[in-house]
Amino acid sequence: MGEEERSLNFIEHIIEDDLESGYGREDLRFRFPPEPNGYLHIGHASSICLNFGLGLRYDAPVNLRFDDTNPAKEEKEYVEAIKRDVAWLGYEWDTERYASDYFGQLYDWAVELIKQGKAYVDSQTSEEIAAQKGTPTEPGSASPCRDRSVEENLRLFEGMKNGDFKEGEHVLRAKIDMASANMLMRDPVMYRVLHKAHHRTNTDWCIYPLYDWTHGESDYIEQVSHSLCTLEFLPHRELYDWFLDQLVDSAKLRPKQREFARRNLSHTVVSKRKLLQLVESGVVNGWDDPRMPTISGLRRRGYTPESIRNFAETIGIAKRDNVVDVSLLEFHVREHLNKITPRVMAVLNPLKLVIANYEEGKEEWLDAENNPEDESAGSRKIPFSRELYIEQEDFREEANRKFFRLKLGGEVRLKNGYIIKAESCTKDVEGNVIEVQCTYDPKSKSGSGTEESLRKVKGTLHWVSIPHAITAEVRLYDRLFTDATPDAHKDKDFMEFVNPDSLHKVTGYLEPSLKDAQVGDRFQFQRLGYFNVDTDSKPGELVFNRTVTLRDTWAKLDQKP
Ligand code: ATP
Ligand code: MG
Repeated sequence: MGEEERSLNFIEHIIEDDLESGYGREDLRFRFPPEPNGYLHIGHASSICLNFGLGLRYDAPVNLRFDDTNPAKEEKEYVEAIKRDVAWLGYEWDTERYASDYFGQLYDWAVELIKQGKAYVDSQTSEEIAAQKGTPTEPGSASPCRDRSVEENLRLFEGMKNGDFKEGEHVLRAKIDMASANMLMRDPVMYRVLHKAHHRTNTDWCIYPLYDWTHGESDYIEQVSHSLCTLEFLPHRELYDWFLDQLVDSAKLRPKQREFARRNLSHTVVSKRKLLQLVESGVVNGWDDPRMPTISGLRRRGYTPESIRNFAETIGIAKRDNVVDVSLLEFHVREHLNKITPRVMAVLNPLKLVIANYEEGKEEWLDAENNPEDESAGSRKIPFSRELYIEQEDFREEANRKFFRLKLGGEVRLKNGYIIKAESCTKDVEGNVIEVQCTYDPKSKSGSGTEESLRKVKGTLHWVSIPHAITAEVRLYDRLFTDATPDAHKDKDFMEFVNPDSLHKVTGYLEPSLKDAQVGDRFQFQRLGYFNVDTDSKPGELVFNRTVTLRDTWAKLDQKP
């Protein structure tokens, strides 16, 4: 869908209204704020496309801000992966920022709040603090530390910063309203002691600010105009605003938090924590396993940035959380790969075919179009010979009239080649067909213009010439989970729905033009799907992933009663 064709989404309406009521275009600024505690997933793609899409639409800068306030879970590896993924999706950030760059400023502001009597050090345990929080219908009760003097608070907070205390000994809390209807306003914790090295600030700090105290203030420092986050932060907005109220200089722009719905994808989980569990338990081979819904997994699987952007654009943004069927994502990658991939032939489940009337030792190089969707893709030559492989599934000794593939006495066209007729077959002791003998019509060569070449037969099969074929490991994937919403069951853990059969490795026989395929190259293996060269490939030892089949086999299965 083109940018111009679709109507504005509700976030764009908010921005348009702001522009009408006095914001200048130059005031607009956005950010994408990942926490570097895992790899980005397809849910993040929605947020990335939203924020960077707004940047493009309004010609406004978009920062990449790492929300790195929890050294217990964050790592440099994740920072690097996130940068790689956002760039790969095709977006350019204005500046790279880190919440940790603001630790000094946040500390100074916290001291300011203490001085104004708006924050205090609480020395109770987290259990005691939780017990005083009250319930949504009953007010909380005040901490015995709530009325500490400013001097004592300043002294203790400085001690917290200087490492004088153990973890859990003290926290800094905002002094707001223990009776607020919004539980988050009941004196939320701003800082805790954490004796952990941070991937950027190392051991400079042993107190770390919490999300609510960090996020809006980082937005303010960066002068982000619209801070877009997912719906679970809706109740946090009041606190976001409260913190800003204490700080905002009226000459500066005041950021606005606005919320949109999380996007979930069917048959998978989109939560870094759960994806980490899949990695750590060995269910998958890392964050970029092609079965993962991570951006890096999708990239390795053969997805294109365009297909992910088109998917995000199509689902748009919503005000309610929902689950998008993974078949829509597959639709988009299929649609894009159909346009850009060269067609090649490969056989994954081989059955030997011998053409009795084709001269032994002879070879022919047939013309094959690279992509019927793209004339500029040109053509190539593929070798034909007396002994070929076709797919096991494409032959039956006997079959009814609806079977348009090869059966004894029947004819099919070999793609880009000749019409053949199956004459007989050989079986092993168990009765499995191991070879088919046929004859070919020498005048029926595709594209030769003869009457015979124009003769219509019902079936066309892909094939490879046995003496010319190269082999490759081909990885075929199925859904990682057997359930559409594995993490939506109250009584069952999502791990119980892991599909034990989500990866099949087979040896494929490929036309020789694929010999020099490079990591990342994408192809359509005719009649089998779209494939790409996996990062495990080495020269002479090709490994392919099936990105997606040509048609949606699951949609049909799912409809069965
Ligand atoms: P996770 O639970 O996977 O860690 P998160 O929301 O904690 O997700 P962040 O790194 O904080 O992850 O997310 C960065 C941005 O991406 C946030 O603005 C967040 O709201 C948004 N985001 C995360 N998951 C989704 C999703 N499934 N759909 C839309 N936006 C998302
Ligand atoms: Mg998170």
